[in-house]
Amino acid sequence: MTSCCFWGASALLLLIAPSGARAQSRAASSQQSPSNGSRDHLLQLYNTHTGERVEIVYRHDDQYIPFALAKLDYFLRDHRTGDVRHFDPRLYDILFDLTSSIGHPDGEIDIVCGYRTPSTNESLRAHTTGVAKNSLHIQAEAIDLRMPGVDTLKLRKAALALHRGGVGYYPHSDFIHVDVGRVRQWCFDCPATLAVGD
Ligand SMILES: [Zn+2]
Repeated sequence: MTSCCFWGASALLLLIAPSGARAQSRAASSQQSPSNGSRDHLLQLYNTHTGERVEIVYRHDDQYIPFALAKLDYFLRDHRTGDVRHFDPRLYDILFDLTSSIGHPDGEIDIVCGYRTPSTNESLRAHTTGVAKNSLHIQAEAIDLRMPGVDTLKLRKAALALHRGGVGYYPHSDFIHVDVGRVRQWCFDCPATLAVGD
């Protein structure tokens, strides 16, 4: 099996932004292009390992909201160790634009993996395949995800079209990896019928 974080879910924690912010964001999101308008940027995320949900406006206009970023850092912590690291907020813009570009601006994203400590990464490398030694997860610059009800291959194509960092596709585990490193792509253990870039 290929994945980054296998440890099971535990507590359910809701981190919810004010309800008004959600309505405002959705009304605005249908009227403006991604990432450059005057509006709130809302993310709805579900952590597949901790069972936590977050629905939060992390950016208003061009200003990231520090309180929201701190909550997201915690949400994306290494759930095995509890370690928290500050994420590159450009990742959130990728997630935000991804949901918009596939026509699901209200969609919830399943987070398969966020931050990994070096020790967690080494443990995963020892027990699974497809884990890079210098993974950008260690730098809090990468997220693995899928979206319920959305073909992960479609999600991958949308991520590639953004041209904003690395995009990995893991068809057997049904998730994509996005990061804010250099623009590149890979498909791990791809079926012969699916060439890289298809
Ligand atoms: Zn990854």
